[in-house]
Amino acid sequence: MASIFTKIISGEIPSYKVAETEDYLAFLDINPNAKGHTLCIPKKDVDKIFDLDEPTYHGLMEFSRQVAIALEKAVPCNRVGMTVIGLEVPHAHVHLIPLNSMEDARFINKTKLEKEEFEEVAIKIASFL
Ligand code: 5GP
Repeated sequence: MASIFTKIISGEIPSYKVAETEDYLAFLDINPNAKGHTLCIPKKDVDKIFDLDEPTYHGLMEFSRQVAIALEKAVPCNRVGMTVIGLEVPHAHVHLIPLNSMEDARFINKTKLEKEEFEEVAIKIASFL
């Protein structure tokens, strides 16, 4: 069965897209730890990140690096953190999170954003790519 993220890639489920290549997609997390929280995924529907074939894994890391650099320019923060969990969605993904304190990395305190705020931050990150 196609993962939620594969449905986001196909456009069946809407998302706030930040960046897209032939093989990868970056979009905003719908329940962000902090404004600008972005998910980077391979278009290949593989559950666990370390099960990706080596070129796809390294490509995902490089794609995530480029998005993280743009994110740090777009969203004022102490630094951008990278986390891999995958307990909720069985499609490999990297979380990029603007961090100002450890709280932002803990997936407990969430930030509520309006549609316009999601749209604005997605466009801003994309503008630095
Ligand atoms: P994980 O699998 O790493 O534990 O968490 C999955 C992440 O995907 C969560 O942070 C959650 O908010 C996000 N997420 C789950 N479903 C959707 C969705 O339909 N759209 C978006 N943009 N994010 C989602």
